[in-house]
Amino acid sequence: MNKMPKWLPIAILGAVLAVLVFYGLRPGEPARQAQPSIPYTEFKTLLAKGEVAELTLKGDAATGVLKRELPIGPAQRTAQAFRTRVPAFGDRELLPALEKADVVVSVVKSEEAGAGGYLLAFLPWIVIFGLYWWFLSRRGGMVGGFGAGGADKFLEGSARRIEKPGKRITFKDVAGQDNAKREVAELVDYLRNPDKYTRLGAEVPHGVLLMGPPGTGKTLLARALAGEAEVPFFHISASEFIEMFVGVGASRVRRMFDEAKKRAPSIIFIDELDSVGRVRGTGLGGGHDEREQTLNQILAEMDGFAGHEAVIVLAATNRPDVLDPALLRPGRFDRHVTLDLPDREARIAILKVHTRDVPVAEDVDLAGIAAGTPGFSGADLKNLVNEAAMLAAREGRAAVTVKDFEEMRDKLLMGSVRTLAIQPEERHRLAVHESGHTLVAHYLPHADPLHKVTIIPRGRALGATQQLPEEDRHTLPIDYLKDRLAVMMGGRTAEKTLLRSVSSGADDDIRQATAMARAMVGRWGMSETVGPVDVRESEQHPFLGREIAQPRRFSEATAEAVDQAVRELLQEAEDRAAAAIREHRQELDALIAALEKEESLGRDRIDEILGPNRTTENRKPPPIAAGAPGE
Ligand code: ATP
Repeated sequence: MNKMPKWLPIAILGAVLAVLVFYGLRPGEPARQAQPSIPYTEFKTLLAKGEVAELTLKGDAATGVLKRELPIGPAQRTAQAFRTRVPAFGDRELLPALEKADVVVSVVKSEEAGAGGYLLAFLPWIVIFGLYWWFLSRRGGMVGGFGAGGADKFLEGSARRIEKPGKRITFKDVAGQDNAKREVAELVDYLRNPDKYTRLGAEVPHGVLLMGPPGTGKTLLARALAGEAEVPFFHISASEFIEMFVGVGASRVRRMFDEAKKRAPSIIFIDELDSVGRVRGTGLGGGHDEREQTLNQILAEMDGFAGHEAVIVLAATNRPDVLDPALLRPGRFDRHVTLDLPDREARIAILKVHTRDVPVAEDVDLAGIAAGTPGFSGADLKNLVNEAAMLAAREGRAAVTVKDFEEMRDKLLMGSVRTLAIQPEERHRLAVHESGHTLVAHYLPHADPLHKVTIIPRGRALGATQQLPEEDRHTLPIDYLKDRLAVMMGGRTAEKTLLRSVSSGADDDIRQATAMARAMVGRWGMSETVGPVDVRESEQHPFLGREIAQPRRFSEATAEAVDQAVRELLQEAEDRAAAAIREHRQELDALIAALEKEESLGRDRIDEILGPNRTTENRKPPPIAAGAPGE
């Protein structure tokens, strides 16, 4: 097809509009610009002088011809034809005067609009249709303009077929996630030899739902499956199904499935399934119908697979809880594969994958970086490597160093370093606060080991005490939680003890400590007075970590008991922090002085100032022995 320049449709539309405006506003008078317009009084004078030969009346507009050429109108242009306007209230004397002067008078119906008028009537439709056409062709992503393909492409959406990608992604590119890989690996053989399975009447699952927090490699795994099996891969994000026109989403689904069936064996990957797959009948107006139609179409397509069609539909979501149960029924997305946030070993593996093409300095220990990045997803780790490489490049280094990784980790966790004018008094309070956390974390036996303490403001925080667990934790023992509460209270307690006042700096500590104490009492049965009952008022989302409110199912008396138990836990934590500070007052003073001077202290420096603790052989007993509620 000849490629039309992109601007051509707009230019044509503009030209049509210009012609209509120019000629169409006074339909039926194509030559009006040639006739000078004269005032009615001048016309009456010419009439009285017997100069007018013909007059055509149409509504209040009049055009006429003089018996000879005369200079007329305000510009005194020499012309024979003229136009004027008859007063809207009429002129009773006009007709007798015309008759008297023997003027040939014709009257034209004012609705006689002529071709221009008809066009004018259709103008809004022309404009609407033109814009629609233009929009379709643009949405279709046609490089060279519009044509039948534009609308086609629009209905197809941006489903992309990757047949021979430049670099084939395989399971080797997916680090960790061994369980998930094992589950989908079974499908590789089927996609390679579908006949082997269909001959024996084996029913291979057609729909696989990949669930997991954002960035854990769901898309990567789907691509790797296609890469391993060497089959075409159709990728669409479910949110792309939803357009402003009802029915487009369903049509796109139909086309994508048709195309995938034609190219079978193949893989369809629908990302963000929850954006169309939410429970039906819960939306209110808006794009709701479109979403339901699209969802219904997906369900219909999945039901419509004949046994022999080797098309596997993978879908990804991080909200499996909101999916319509119909999607999860047998024959649809009945195989569920969960991808978790990577543990330490997996983080090492992911870092290895992403540093394959990045020159790293000899001092870089990937295991150390992995240990310092609990809670990071695969995508976060990829980002960390990339940011560290960018920093090294910016500063002209040949290889990425530990410092680059460390700097970028802090930036990703807490935000960029901020230049902030802090008064000496406030800076001292900050050093006291952070040293309080550090001291308590150093001496309590079950607290996570310290990584560093700093009073350099970053992101929203003015200072920070970082601890890093030695191992990934899957369950949280009560001793560990109580030490953690005491560490959280350490900052405020140090301020209280040393400065004899508290400040708003403990805002986040108190919030986090209260939430944790509430979970200990209300969810994990760690209070003897409340007992092992579930008194949570909200539920944490399994993948997103967000709290979702729950209806209250316990009495007011229980609520009071919970409040009391929470308060006791927090008070106990504060007492333990105070005891540690009392016991190690000298070390605390030394730590504060060092922190004020050096601004940031690493683990070794902290050990040097504070002396031995549990990480050496000399584990100290907790300052306050057991005996509080829950122990
Ligand atoms: P979302 O839910 O946000 O769509 P996702 O789970 O689909 O995220 P991906 O898009 O697959 O995550 O991951 C983003 C990038 O992170 C990948 O391109 C890959 O480079 C990296 N990544 C994630 N997980 C892994 C992993 N297990 N091994 C190697 N790289 C990974």
